[in-house]
Amino acid sequence: MTSRRPLILAHGGAGSRRVTPAQSACLADALAAGYGILAQGDPALAAVECTINLLEQSGLFNAGRGANRQLDGVQRMDAAIMEGARLKAGAVASIEGIAHPITVARLVMEETDHVLLVGPFARKFARHFTLDQHRVTGKPRRLSYGRILAKQKRSRTKRHGTVGAVALDRSGTVAAGASTGGIESMLPGRVGDSPLIGSGVYADNHSGAVSMTGIGEGIIRLVIAKSICDHLAMGKSPAVAARQVLRILTSRIHGTAGALVLSPDGRFAIRHVTPHMAAGWWNGTGQPIVQGEFS
Ligand code: ASP
Repeated sequence: MTSRRPLILAHGGAGSRRVTPAQSACLADALAAGYGILAQGDPALAAVECTINLLEQSGLFNAGRGANRQLDGVQRMDAAIMEGARLKAGAVASIEGIAHPITVARLVMEETDHVLLVGPFARKFARHFTLDQHRVTGKPRRLSYGRILAKQKRSRTKRHGTVGAVALDRSGTVAAGASTGGIESMLPGRVGDSPLIGSGVYADNHSGAVSMTGIGEGIIRLVIAKSICDHLAMGKSPAVAARQVLRILTSRIHGTAGALVLSPDGRFAIRHVTPHMAAGWWNGTGQPIVQGEFS
């Protein structure tokens, strides 16, 4: 067993909006809490879950309490978590009424032989573990499906957001996670990249850990998280791997995204092809670093 200097990175989404002071403070607190777990020798997976829990809880990001609503007025959330030693992963998609989808994803990984649970079945599973319910305010909209579809087609803006984290623990294991309320003007039942292993998250001790944010449809089509890990496995640095894959996303399909990329030797990069990305990192020295843009 090797002993490494632990490290954690977290994000609160990439897009056209600037990070607010409240979001920056929340990201810094979440990084500090996640790092605290790593510093006491606990696994990267626990640090990723704890960091994402705090971001979900805050209501300041599009995840957990702050999740977007789909066009029928209902919040349906997606989340995934993965660890790099045994390549174990868990995920939930389209889950309603649960405060911490990332914790449900971890339970899917640890308590079942499956990777992904969806919709009402994911909620039933979460309730079995008596996980925090999320009080849903407002009523579902009573729109005909034709009107919902027309609204989706008309929508030009695609505001979005996600929270995510990657971590490296003292034993050299990496982990990655993401949790989201999806994008603006989504059809009911739309699922993004975040719960799809290899698209929104990936973690492998032989290559690295990645947590994505951005418009999920493009990230899914290019399986971005795994592609970045494949570039790391070829010996590219996190910065080069992220840049090359994000360049393909923009040039081939005009996609938008941001990525946290961490290699098992502790090198990392935060890259985005959006105007802003709320993100930061901490390795225990000084204070957690949080910025709204990374070049
Ligand atoms: N990737 C998320 C989704 O498509 C949204 C985001 O990260 O901004 O659901």
